[in-house]
Amino acid sequence: MPRTSGSELRKGDLRDRRLLLEKAYALSPSELDGLGTDAEMLERSEVMVEYAVGYFAVPLGIAPGFLIDSVERTIPMATEEPSVIAAATFGASLVARAGGFSTAAADPLMAAHIYLRNVPEGNEARILTEKAAIRAATDRVLGRMKRRGGGLRKVGVLRLAEGGFVRVELEIDVRDAMGANILNSAAESARPILERASGGTTVMAILSNSADRRIARARFAMPTRLLARGRFDGEDVARAIVEAYLIAAEDQERAVTHNKGIMNGVSALALATANDTRGIEAAVHRYATQSGHYSPLSRYELSDGQLAGTIELPMPFGTVGGATLFHPGARTVLKILGNPDGPTLCRIAAALGLAQNLAALAALVSEGIQQGHMRLHARRVAFEAGARGSDIAKVAQKLQEQGDYRETYARAVLEGIRNG
Ligand code: NAD
Repeated sequence: MPRTSGSELRKGDLRDRRLLLEKAYALSPSELDGLGTDAEMLERSEVMVEYAVGYFAVPLGIAPGFLIDSVERTIPMATEEPSVIAAATFGASLVARAGGFSTAAADPLMAAHIYLRNVPEGNEARILTEKAAIRAATDRVLGRMKRRGGGLRKVGVLRLAEGGFVRVELEIDVRDAMGANILNSAAESARPILERASGGTTVMAILSNSADRRIARARFAMPTRLLARGRFDGEDVARAIVEAYLIAAEDQERAVTHNKGIMNGVSALALATANDTRGIEAAVHRYATQSGHYSPLSRYELSDGQLAGTIELPMPFGTVGGATLFHPGARTVLKILGNPDGPTLCRIAAALGLAQNLAALAALVSEGIQQGHMRLHARRVAFEAGARGSDIAKVAQKLQEQGDYRETYARAVLEGIRNG
């Protein structure tokens, strides 16, 4: 039931739209505040997206204690999900005790595709004779990228088997950027040359989010005794982690959740650095299916009392461009990360994904993950019941002890605490 017309909401600026929303949906001042109050961020939001009415706050936490290629790092994470940051921190601390993560990232190569229709059979080869002209056209867009050591690397042509469309691929080194806009501009600049050479016309020119050249890897090896917790023996936990991996490798239903756990970390870092979460997630899930069977992105092996974990996934992160340096929060997050270059941020993200996965598996195969979740759930119920400051922990503890998470009970507990 629209209470204000779409055309009205498209007019004016952010303030006008907020006023319209306030009236049309009877929003109270505090409800309106829920759409953001910081003047600077409101102004930036208006520049970042269309028809902005505010900005959406997501908790930002830090996962300290990462040791990645001998460098200590604190990783900021933006997520609405409880337990994710605790798990990352726990995984990081386990691996740090065993010497840390070793990581690697491939060159930041991305592919842009120009799809052509009605290319006469055999004309594909003529496109490849125009490489110099293609390079000259794309160089006009990629001039600065070339000076940074990036730019056009390769041109390839493929006729798609079924529809007969011809795909021209431009492989471009995007240095520290994610590269989407850069690739789209380069692809468009090449269109006229490709059409002239092939005799076809363009259907579309767009980057591929597949990012399958941009692989990041992380690895750790740890003595199994580090995995001992409570009544659980370290060797048993390690063996069960390997079993959990083997199950994910065989059963796609489990692999999806295995990978979702990895993305709990990767996506939280992507959001905190204002990277393109959707692009990263699309790349990762496509990579998980590259064998034709949706597979886990991490693997575990046990030998000689050591548990080794590895992760391999495409990581199209940027540290410049897009919203990364425009969003004030992301700028601060990048500073906390030590202002890494693009490939370094990709390596950090891979290590974070592996830490996240290790912690989740270690919990799943021992006491289960629900205990930690319920601790945070209890804190939230305590907050909703009116508890603040140190009362939150006191109320939450009582709820957990009693296994009663009703808000009415939390209110009664809070009253008891306040009355001494
Ligand atoms: P961008 O358009 O901001 O380009 C990056 C800029 O950074 C360029 O102007 C480049 O010259 C400059 N730069 C400065 N120093 C650099 C360095 N060291 N290395 C590389 N570049 C450097 O950003 P982008 O990375 O081309 O595109 C990312 C944005 O595009 C994201 O916001 C994304 O959401 C959006 N986008 C995504 C898609 C998609 O994924 N399908 C499509 C369109 C747009």
